[in-house]
Amino acid sequence: MKTTAVVAVGLAAAFLLLVYVIDRESLWQIAAVLLALFAVIAVIFDLWVYRPVNGLIRRSRTRLGGNYERNDPFYRDEVRELGYLVGTLIAVFTASEDKEWVSQSIKDDLIRVQSLNRQLMDVGVLGREMNAALPYRETVERVLSRSRAFLHADFGALLLLDAEARAFSLEGAQGVLTPTLSAECCAYTPDCPVRQAIASGELTRTQGHTCTLFPHTMTHQLVIPVKVENVGDMALLATSTSGEYAELLTDDILGALQNHIQSALTNAHKYDAIRRQVVTDHLTGLYNRRYFMNRAGEEIERSLRHQAPLSVLMIDIDHFKDFNDTYGHATGDRVLQTVARAMKDALRKPDICSRHGGEEFAVLLPNTPGDNAYFVAERVRRTLSGTRYTGLGLPPEVNITISVGVATCPRDATVLDELMELSDKALYRAKAEGRDMVVLWGAEERQRVRS
Ligand code: GH3
Ligand code: MG
Ligand code: MG
Repeated sequence: MKTTAVVAVGLAAAFLLLVYVIDRESLWQIAAVLLALFAVIAVIFDLWVYRPVNGLIRRSRTRLGGNYERNDPFYRDEVRELGYLVGTLIAVFTASEDKEWVSQSIKDDLIRVQSLNRQLMDVGVLGREMNAALPYRETVERVLSRSRAFLHADFGALLLLDAEARAFSLEGAQGVLTPTLSAECCAYTPDCPVRQAIASGELTRTQGHTCTLFPHTMTHQLVIPVKVENVGDMALLATSTSGEYAELLTDDILGALQNHIQSALTNAHKYDAIRRQVVTDHLTGLYNRRYFMNRAGEEIERSLRHQAPLSVLMIDIDHFKDFNDTYGHATGDRVLQTVARAMKDALRKPDICSRHGGEEFAVLLPNTPGDNAYFVAERVRRTLSGTRYTGLGLPPEVNITISVGVATCPRDATVLDELMELSDKALYRAKAEGRDMVVLWGAEERQRVRS
């Protein structure tokens, strides 16, 4: 066939030359040129199109024994290659977005895919940021800020739901107008849809109650329900003035966000519980010695920096061994718990109360001069010794008494170990002088100097 083609081309070229030489102007010339051109096209078609395609078909027939099976690997390879070709063509067309002939729907699809890709990357980063080991309160704030940014929302609130009462409380909020909340305050019900268009009329709910959680300009709301282990059911509300961005978010993306929020809040809650366990004395619920000593170091620094007095109380239960020996260890434990509760009741919130070991307790009183600390200790001592206890396993005539030593920074000492030692010495003076009393370190000496 190759020779035939060469001969055909040669003949056509010779014929063309002959006609050109004999008669340049006649119709023959045009006919001959057309004929020659046709011969050349035929040969090209034969060599580069017909033969390869025919060969391919023949090869595949031989290979498949004349049967084309859709699932045959060979057939599939050929089809796949064709698919690649078509795909490449589409890619070339879609890459040139500015070309008019690229259809609008392809452009829209491309934008959707790009947006989805961005959302997937963003939601991954957001998950890592939310799940950094942080205390629960900080995690709530982080969940709100990151979710608001991700969802393009103007306002965000995290509600803690009480399904039985069909009520909820505000666990956290960013940008809200009021921290107080009631069912009428926002367009939320436990069964409301995830994507909500909220007309301002809807925010003005029953009995003309005006929504005060979000401003009235908000028209769209996303609701993401979350279940937080050991805390309960929650809902994240993200409101904005436009629902455009929310439309681009697929259910899968919202599902990924929901999972991240759930795990971040659950982990943060566990983190707090573990941290509490590490610093707490199990029997009394007070801080333990390690926490006390760390805090005491920080509080001394603060006291010196701000020139504010800091007092320490060392408290020891009198004849505690007798409670154990006479009424048993269970009663001894209950006595320890009773003293702890009395101390907590008598002290202010910023005071740090710890069980220092055995039946000894230590208390830090920030911003408290020695004399005031003495009166606080006296109040605890009198409350305990003046109370008749029932339910502890003690006979009614037995009361619980304590001895207390007080020392103050910077008046008595400016170093923690020294301050602790002086309060301990004051305590042992109280023991030596008959127990059930409070001794303020240095008071006697000061008295002596004055008189
Ligand atoms: P004092 O008035 O001199 O302080 O006498 P005390 O009996 O209180 O002092 P002592 O140090 O001799 O006894 C303390 C006792 O406290 C000894 C120990 O068995 C007991 N104890 C320490 N920790 C616990 C505890 O967790 N539970 C109970 N039930 N007893 C404890
Ligand atoms: Mg003791
Ligand atoms: Mg004791």
